[in-house]
Amino acid sequence: MHYFGAHVSAAGGVENAPRNAQAIGATAFALFTKNQRQWIAAPLTAPQIDAFRRACDEAGYTPAQILPHDSYLINLGHPDAAGLEKSRAAFLDEMRRCEQLGLDRLNFHPGSHLQKISEEESLDRIAESINIALRETHGVTAVIENTAGQGSNLGFRFEHLAYLIDRVEDKSRVGVCIDTCHAFAAGYDLRTAEACEATFAELERVVGFRYLKGMHLNDALKILGSRVDRHTPLGEGQIGIECFRYIARDPRFEGIPLILETPDEARWPEEIARLKAFAEEE
Ligand SMILES: [Zn+2]
Ligand SMILES: [Zn+2]
Repeated sequence: MHYFGAHVSAAGGVENAPRNAQAIGATAFALFTKNQRQWIAAPLTAPQIDAFRRACDEAGYTPAQILPHDSYLINLGHPDAAGLEKSRAAFLDEMRRCEQLGLDRLNFHPGSHLQKISEEESLDRIAESINIALRETHGVTAVIENTAGQGSNLGFRFEHLAYLIDRVEDKSRVGVCIDTCHAFAAGYDLRTAEACEATFAELERVVGFRYLKGMHLNDALKILGSRVDRHTPLGEGQIGIECFRYIARDPRFEGIPLILETPDEARWPEEIARLKAFAEEE
């Protein structure tokens, strides 16, 4: 089954996210387990953890339908020792929060070299950052998101994702999340069924679908290869609706969270309903 949802608000506490997802007809959801613009967060309390787990049970969400996203401040490939250390500590905290909540994956952006070190040096730091976090935690998979390649962000080539996976010691706990807007901005065409076929064949060849632990479904404001990360509602950008119909009907995308990060929240119920209708065409 295809699980469709959106990155919902966890304002007022993580335990509110499952209800927010249910309210829009979602069968999957993404959330931040802490404020994504702050380094430090209060630890999760036992009552909060219980409330979150209960809310997920009540709404029928299993870990395979939930894709937590880490803070935007974290840079696991940071060129400076202090910045790297701070990011690694924050990432470990995010992994532990997922562990406490009973979640089995954490979605994150690989990192940026900030024009101070080479791509390869930065990628090596990211791989080591993942290894450190995996050694200190149990049961949570580190899910690397592809990026649009804006600025010095790494992860815009499938080869970057493969390079990282290759260097992660525990292959059973590393995965990828493909953001359609990011892939398109990075130069992977998704505008037609044929283009999707070719791009996802490339993903299979370079990374492997066995590592796919989630998708972000976003249309793109800017043209193919723009390297600019700007999302639009499905069917209203440069990618077009065909890509989302393709994903909704392809069994390779079953059993993982498929998450909208489209800009107009008010339209999520309609976007989710449309995706569900595509899936039923199978
Ligand atoms: Zn992201
Ligand atoms: Zn994304």
